[in-house]
Amino acid sequence: MEQNYDDTQLMIFEKPAVSCEDVELLLGDYTENDLPESLKLRMDEHIAECPDCEEGLRRYREVIELAGEMKESGEPMPERVKDNLRDALHKRLGIAVRL
Ligand SMILES: [Zn+2]
Repeated sequence: MEQNYDDTQLMIFEKPAVSCEDVELLLGDYTENDLPESLKLRMDEHIAECPDCEEGLRRYREVIELAGEMKESGEPMPERVKDNLRDALHKRLGIAVRL
C-alpha cells in the first residue's frame, strides 16, 4: 500500500507520541482504514492503553453504523436524531460531523 500522508497525518506521525487529541483527529481515517500502516499501528498502541480513546472509538463506530443503516433503509434521519448524534459526537469526542 502507498504510504501517502496528508498534512494532519504527517504532523502527527512526526510527534514522539500520539496523544488523545491526535487520535480524535484521525478517528475518521482510522475507522475508514484510510491510514498509512505505520500511523495506524501507533494509533492501535495508544488506543490499547487508553480507555478514553477506546471508548471514543467505540462510540464513533456506533454512530457511523447507525448513520449507515439509516441511509440504507432510505428513511430520512429525523432531525431530532441528527441533533442528538451531532451533540453526542461533539461533546464526547470534540468533533463536528455533517449528517
Ligand atoms: Zn487517548
